Amino acid sequence: MHNEWSQLKNELPELLEQSRKETIHGQVAEYIPELAHAPAQGLGITIADRQGNVIHAGDCSISFTLQSISKVFTLMLALMDNGEETVFTKVGKEPTGDDFNSMLKLELVEPGIPFNPLINAGAIAVSSMIKGKSPQEKAGRVLEFFHTLTGDASLTVNEKVYLSEKRTAHRNRSLAYFLKENQVLDEDTDVEEVLDVYFRHCSIETNCGHLAAMAVILANQGADPATGVQLIPKRYVQIAKTFMISCGMYNASGEFAIQAGIPAKSGVSGGILALVPGRYGIGVIGPALNSKGNSTAGVHLLESLSRSYGWSMF
Ligand code: GLU
Repeated sequence: MHNEWSQLKNELPELLEQSRKETIHGQVAEYIPELAHAPAQGLGITIADRQGNVIHAGDCSISFTLQSISKVFTLMLALMDNGEETVFTKVGKEPTGDDFNSMLKLELVEPGIPFNPLINAGAIAVSSMIKGKSPQEKAGRVLEFFHTLTGDASLTVNEKVYLSEKRTAHRNRSLAYFLKENQVLDEDTDVEEVLDVYFRHCSIETNCGHLAAMAVILANQGADPATGVQLIPKRYVQIAKTFMISCGMYNASGEFAIQAGIPAKSGVSGGILALVPGRYGIGVIGPALNSKGNSTAGVHLLESLSRSYGWSMF
């Protein structure tokens, strides 16, 4: 293990520069206008082990918003708030094969609950299950959860990205109203309030170091590796990791499972949170995305690392 760590330290910069070449095949997301300013050639990675060692390579100073990566954590918070049985009456456990913001199956497949918690419809349903008396309190609890997991109490919502998404989220708004029509959101739910919680957790500003710090907790089955304190019940971490394998990388989750074989979740900001179970937490940023919505260079880097170091779980 120690050898692997020093080898990683030596080889990571070169592997990263190889992968950086892939950025030319991708494009920065523009459908949330504020995301379009991200540096298209950027690529950075942080790897954290359970002993508290950290390696950075490339452009780790880039800050970006969590976007879909937040969905893994809101799921675990909703599970902690409501229990497994309740959560899975509102959201399913299967991949869709459709785009992350698709409405198709909500109408086609009875009973019209979102297929899984990592697509937008599912994550909006999950946001509605976060406990709190007001949307502010709910969003505040989500933010606090991230403070605990990253150990950084300065983590906050990027207001520009939040407002940019709020202004342009016509499709998410449609999805949420559809969920209300299908009674996934109760009759007395204020849809805008649920969306507000959702937009806020997607807009939390982060960096590769934060992602690696959170991922190493998942790699350690929910316990803080430094203190041993169980921050998230093991069962909920198990559920989250399983969704990361089956649906964490959009419609390329099967391909990524074959090529890299590690749990991962990407977001449209170009971030990827990944982990090597029992060993490492990894945070990647590469804003240029492929047609599936995953960071071109980020995927390339994780796949080449997994191949070189034999990280696949399968
Ligand atoms: N906030 C983004 C949206 O709802 C998250 C999408 C993503 O990262 O996949 O469109």
